[in-house]
This record gives sequence, structure tokens and C-alpha cells, in this order.
Amino acid sequence: MSVHLQIEATRGAARAGRLITPHGEVETPVFMPVGTLASVKGVPQDVLEELGVQILLSNTYHLYLRPGVETVRKMGGLHRFMAWDRAILTDSGGFQVFSLTELRKVSEEGVAFRSHLDGSSHFLSPEKAMEIQIGLGADIMMAFDECTEYPADGQRMRNSMELTLRWAERSKKYFEEHKNEVPWAAGRQPLAVSHQGQQVLRSAQDDNFIGHEHEKDQTQALFGIVQGGMDAALRRESAERTIDIGFPGYAIGGLSVGEPRELTRDIVLSTLEHLPADKPRYLMGVGTPEEIAQYAQAGVDMMDCVLPTRAARHGLLFTSEGKVSIKQARYAQDESALDPGCDCRVCQRYSRAYLRHLYAANELLAQVLNTVHNLHYYLATMRTVRSWIRAS
Ligand SMILES: [Zn+2]
Repeated sequence: MSVHLQIEATRGAARAGRLITPHGEVETPVFMPVGTLASVKGVPQDVLEELGVQILLSNTYHLYLRPGVETVRKMGGLHRFMAWDRAILTDSGGFQVFSLTELRKVSEEGVAFRSHLDGSSHFLSPEKAMEIQIGLGADIMMAFDECTEYPADGQRMRNSMELTLRWAERSKKYFEEHKNEVPWAAGRQPLAVSHQGQQVLRSAQDDNFIGHEHEKDQTQALFGIVQGGMDAALRRESAERTIDIGFPGYAIGGLSVGEPRELTRDIVLSTLEHLPADKPRYLMGVGTPEEIAQYAQAGVDMMDCVLPTRAARHGLLFTSEGKVSIKQARYAQDESALDPGCDCRVCQRYSRAYLRHLYAANELLAQVLNTVHNLHYYLATMRTVRSWIRAS
């Protein structure tokens, strides 16, 4: 048992349901906040729980460099290390390495790259990316892929797609041979003397710690990634051949790499048609609140994006009345709530004037409050879409 999707309602191409994972159920379609370094910047885990976050994403590349996979593994895996008992997804590191344009070299074997932190040399291959992700222990891990740059010519897009397919096979092979090595796998922890249901025991030093009842006999799930650049025919071929390899879920990768938004949308919509109806569909790294709602309506089950959290740290807030740049002087004495239509803890308590002051004064609290509101807005957007699907 790894993860599976229960579809409970459909409306047009959209589906609402539940993603069952070793660390709880996730209502879909879902937006996954990004916790790059095992932290959603500025937001403690209990606040994420209060916001209703059921799954978050962490970045393999960053955690591999800092604190290192061995540290996370020895701390019992990512869930226990960051005291987060709900679901986690890790990316493969492929996209981050892709972003190191000047610092990487791609070969059949994998990608040689230099750390953005200290310039040290590293090598990521499909096998290494699986080994790292198994050590991190997320519920869902991603095959190692090459993100094709934009623009790229036809031959380049095909070669890149073929490489991703070969890497997908290697990823799956390594995963199947090693999936019992996840830190929380059955038999890897001493049996509990006093097991307390699903209540999390916070100390990794506690010899009685066995993790959770729901972790027993469970494994991680490895998702495949569809590539193929901006070519609809290659996307279709990539989807079909990735499905032939066989994964419990499929992602659409290689988008939001500089292409126009309409092209992103065209590729997403045409690729979705070729993904199996009974498996989770994950669209990686998009988009605005309007876009995530549209993609959910088009049949995407899972999405992630740094936009709500990154924009929040730059004072850009999403509201029911449009975007608000809280740094503007016009808010200096504005007593109203940031978003009168929002029931988040920030809008219930603070004025625009106060939020503007915090931002202008570079107070840490500005980042915290802005991030909480933006995450709430994204999560509420998806709640609305789920209700819309279920109301059909
Ligand atoms: Zn709010």
C-alpha cells in the first residue's frame, strides 16, 4: 500500500475525492504549500494544521545540501524531523538542478552540479535521487527527470523526453528494490511498549517511538513525470510511455519555465487527456489563484507553487478584491481588514495600516502574517472548487 485516489464526485473533467496516504487523507483537488527546507518559511507547523494544510512539498535538492539526507534519516525521516504528521511530497531535485544553468552538466548517467551554497561538486542520478528521497521518507516521491528548457527545438525536446523516460525506468527500478528502506517502514522501528494510537510522540530519542499505526505495512509512492517540452504530440507520447512504465500517479512537469501562460494552459489541457482517470494527476509548479482553480476544474488533482509564499514575503497579497501590494503608502492609515471577505486569523485581527507598517519596518511578523493570509487564500480557493465539484 502506498497512495491511492478515491474519486467521490465529478463535474465535467473535474474530480473531487481523497488521496489516501500513509500520513493521512488529503482532500483533492489540493494545493500543496512549498516547504523548501522542511519549513514553510515563517509559518509554524501548528498554524499550517490550523490552516487545513493536509500535504506539503519539500525540495530534495535543498535538503540534500542542508541538513543532508543522513541527518534527516537518522532523525526518523522528514515527518518526524519537522514534527509534521500529515502527508509530504518531495520533488526529485531535477527541477532545482535544472535551474542551476551555469553550474550543471547533464549526461546519460545523471547531472553533475555545483552547490549554490558553497560551490562544492555533486552528482544526481535517478538512483541517487531515489536514495535521497527514500531517506527523506516523504509519502510521495518523484521520478528523476530532465526539465526541458524553453525555448527548445524539436530534436532537443525529443532527446530530453527520451532521457526522462530512461531515467523514469531507472527511478522505478531503484525504488522497487529499496522502498522498504524508508525510515518509517514496518520493522525498521522497535515495537512500541506504550503506543498511543495516532498521537505523535515528538522525541526521536524516545526508544518507544515507532511512528504511527497508519505507517505500518505502508510504503512511499513514486510518481512518474510527463515531459516533452511545448510539443503536444511529444507530451502525448511521453504520457503514454510513462504510463507503460507504470506509476501510482502522474505529474505534468517542465512548465512555468518562461513560456507564455496560454501555452502552459494549452499543454496542460492537452496532456491531461492522456493521463489515466483513476490515478492522481499532479501539475507541478503553477500558478496564480485563478490558474489553480482553472486547472482543478480541468481535472488536475494536485498542484504546488511558491507564488503565495514568495509573493507574501514581498508584500504581495491575494484577496477577493484582487492583488494588494501592502507596501503602498495608500494603506498607511487604512483601518480596514486586508481582505474583508477572508476569515483567516490575519484578516480577523489586523488592519491594512498595521500590515503596511510591519512591512515598511521590515518586521519579521510581516512575513509571517502575509504568508498565513496568502496560504489561506489559496487553500480557500481550492475548498471552493471542491464544493463546486461536489455540488454538481
Ligand atoms: Zn486573510
